[in-house]
Amino acid sequence: MKPIEILKEYFGYSSFRVGQAEIIEALISGQDVLGIMPTGAGKSICYQVPALCGSGVSLVVSPLISLMKDQVDALREMGIEAALINSTLSTYAYNEVMEGAKAGRYKLIYVAPERLESYDFVSLCEQLPLDYVIIDEAHCVSQWGHDFRPSYRGVSRFIESLPKRPVIGAFTATATPKVREDMLSLLRLQNPYTLTTGFDRPNLYFEVERPKHKLDATLNYLKKHQEESGIIYCSTRKSVDALYEKLLSKGIRVVRYHAGLSEHERGQNQEDFLFDKAQVMIATNAFGMGIDKSNIRYVLHYNMPKNMESYYQEAGRAGRDGVESTCTLLYASSDIMTNRLLIENAGLGVDLSLEYEKLNQMVDYCNTEGCLRNAILRYFGEQPTVLCDHCGNCNSEIAQQDITIEAQKILSCIKRMGERFGMVLVIDVLKGGNTQKIRQFGFQTLSTYGLMRDYSKEVIKEMMSFLIAEKYIALDGDKFPILRLAPLSYEVLRGQQPVNMRIALRIEDIAQAQDAERLPLDMELMSQLKQLRSKLAEDYHIPPFIVFSDATLNEMSQYYPTTQEEMLQISGIGGAKYEKYGKAFEIIIQNYVSEHQIEKPELIKPVKKEKSSSTLGDTLKKEVKKDSHLATYMMYQEGHALEDIAKERGLTRFTVENHLVKCVEEGLDIDLYQFMTPEQEPLIEAAIMQVGITLLKPIKEALPEEVSYTAIKLMIEKLKRCNKI
Ligand code: ADP
Repeated sequence: MKPIEILKEYFGYSSFRVGQAEIIEALISGQDVLGIMPTGAGKSICYQVPALCGSGVSLVVSPLISLMKDQVDALREMGIEAALINSTLSTYAYNEVMEGAKAGRYKLIYVAPERLESYDFVSLCEQLPLDYVIIDEAHCVSQWGHDFRPSYRGVSRFIESLPKRPVIGAFTATATPKVREDMLSLLRLQNPYTLTTGFDRPNLYFEVERPKHKLDATLNYLKKHQEESGIIYCSTRKSVDALYEKLLSKGIRVVRYHAGLSEHERGQNQEDFLFDKAQVMIATNAFGMGIDKSNIRYVLHYNMPKNMESYYQEAGRAGRDGVESTCTLLYASSDIMTNRLLIENAGLGVDLSLEYEKLNQMVDYCNTEGCLRNAILRYFGEQPTVLCDHCGNCNSEIAQQDITIEAQKILSCIKRMGERFGMVLVIDVLKGGNTQKIRQFGFQTLSTYGLMRDYSKEVIKEMMSFLIAEKYIALDGDKFPILRLAPLSYEVLRGQQPVNMRIALRIEDIAQAQDAERLPLDMELMSQLKQLRSKLAEDYHIPPFIVFSDATLNEMSQYYPTTQEEMLQISGIGGAKYEKYGKAFEIIIQNYVSEHQIEKPELIKPVKKEKSSSTLGDTLKKEVKKDSHLATYMMYQEGHALEDIAKERGLTRFTVENHLVKCVEEGLDIDLYQFMTPEQEPLIEAAIMQVGITLLKPIKEALPEEVSYTAIKLMIEKLKRCNKI
């Protein structure tokens, strides 16, 4: 079978994702591969498909027992013979796998790296027709990486001991230049085909919120995400426990995980979460390594993590199945202090100044006005050029609040207190508190005492953390940071520097309008399908997402497939899975459709990339079901006015305009002068060149009011096309 046929038959997918086809081709043609792709990009398929194409067997070296088990379970569900060898196997089971391997029963064998040093195993491998040796999580070979595993160093020795060198594939999600060098040299890859697909995870929506009350904000958040699986990360065990109790008392199905719990409780809680018995996992950063649960719909950070690496790794556990997922960070100034303490207490061997620098960069992320996704990508060394339009900042209007007077009061109070104290005491003085410390230092006599009596403590704290982040206030000392004036403070105190604090106002209706245009999910059907999935998962002792992923259930509840042919068109349903589970789902959908007299939408899958399609018009017609902006474009091409398109399609005018911008981004043409006058054109160009394209708002402000955001966006695309930006 050809790779694309294997993809359809076993995995139930109709096209390869970015990079997959190239890697598969390289491996099959006998070339080593180094694949650096972000979590959820689909690395497994890159080696599983070649393994199925080959006549022999493939060995997959994997560092985590739980990952191995999930992978092997998932393969077996798809009708692929696979086995694992690690320390959890009994002698009996081990012998059985060895016998099976000799008899040529398996296409893939997963092994822990330590096993490659065992005499037994090495002599087995000498007899096996090994097509590929795949090294998963290949960064473990490097000391520069975060999960160095000494036994990975033995992999190349093992390979050299084999009678015939198999093709080697190394895969990882993280690789700084140093780690990459190590992988190439220590794994002795030969002239490998190297592919880096970048760090972006387009299906993740990033946002930073600054709620006054984190608990209330969390409860609201969970209301919006009812019935969905999610993780809440807190920075300490204590806060995990506190939040856990609170959510439990509200009747939320929640479990927790941190190093202070017994191994038994941790294991049980993890399993409950994996099997969807618990909806929410509250955890410290101890949770997550080796968790391959694909249907995590959100990751909420109750506290800011200590650096961007941790943040992206933890947030990145959302949406492995490619379905839209949200990563929300609840930021508060107190998180800075907590992290400083955690860094301080991390023990010997920690480069403190480096850790503080990383913490500062994390704080910068929380305070940035720019595109959050771009901030992340830049941190990891990429140079994104467009705004993502899919994060909290791109989708919010940032309002500015002039807090110059308040800043002067705060700064002056810090100065009068002798620049010797932390935030808590400064706030107490500004609020006019009557504490022992205030009396002890005689602060009740200061002119700034009680100067901000009318503000809540939280508001003062927010302002101060903003002033710290923007370097109006300096922090000194590590464990209990002291507030001092900074060079900028004096400019503010002299009235030479206004201070504007950002308040993000979310434009909820943009998100809603964009949601409305997608083919809706039938939530009632969805809940029946989920019930069936849970039941089957229980019967077969596998996690629900291995039966079918969320993406697959979503499609079922959009297209109502009721025949085998229709079922096989749904993403994620291959032959074996259809045989095993398809019918049960089909029956539920059939009943549902007739009971509710549903008129099914036409089931049209995206056109396969391999086949060249006849005309642009044909392609458009086929793709419109999935790509709403193309439907808008077709109406636009037919000469309909934008208002009419909006009305006809039940969208807002704003969404229609955004659709057209997207079409232009994808290389289609539209008439610019419908959106700007010829006189405005050079003005817009000049404003863009002058202000840059990090944010649209400053460009808009530099132009006459009648110039629309759409005009600016279109102009940016035009300038990009002629390589001016
Ligand atoms: P990674 O190992 O890179 O984190 P996985 O291999 O676990 O990612 O893949 C993530 C998810 O994407 C899985 O649910 C997988 O089935 C799905 N997937 C992979 N390739 C494709 C594809 N070509 N089409 C649709 N879904 C895919």
